Amino acid sequence: MKKLSVRTSSQIEMLDITSQIEKVVEESGITEGVCYLFVPHTTAAVTINEGADPSVKSDILKELDKNIPLQDNYQHREGNAAAHIKASIIGSTEIVPVDSGRLVLGTWQSIFFCEFDGPRTRSVLVKVMG
Ligand code: ZN
Repeated sequence: MKKLSVRTSSQIEMLDITSQIEKVVEESGITEGVCYLFVPHTTAAVTINEGADPSVKSDILKELDKNIPLQDNYQHREGNAAAHIKASIIGSTEIVPVDSGRLVLGTWQSIFFCEFDGPRTRSVLVKVMG
């Protein structure tokens, strides 16, 4: 298991971590299998979506904000209830196939670390299994 450190710079953002994950796959020496990603946080998540057009991630974040407002009489006292809800909706895991030593992603797909309560230093756990 490899632990990647991710430094976020905004309260809410999607960071393309594809190249960092590719590097972990290369270093593992595993050529056929799966790459398992896990975000060990309650206000951050991981997802796969379009990396070519940055407006896609802007739209995703905008719609999440619209549907889960920062303030909505939440019972959670810490003040970050919206971040917890967004993290659960997006999810804390992804699994990507590995073939010929590379991640098998669609042409337009990238792997995004999703920050919902930043900025912070975060972790992503990566396990490559042959
Ligand atoms: Zn909280």
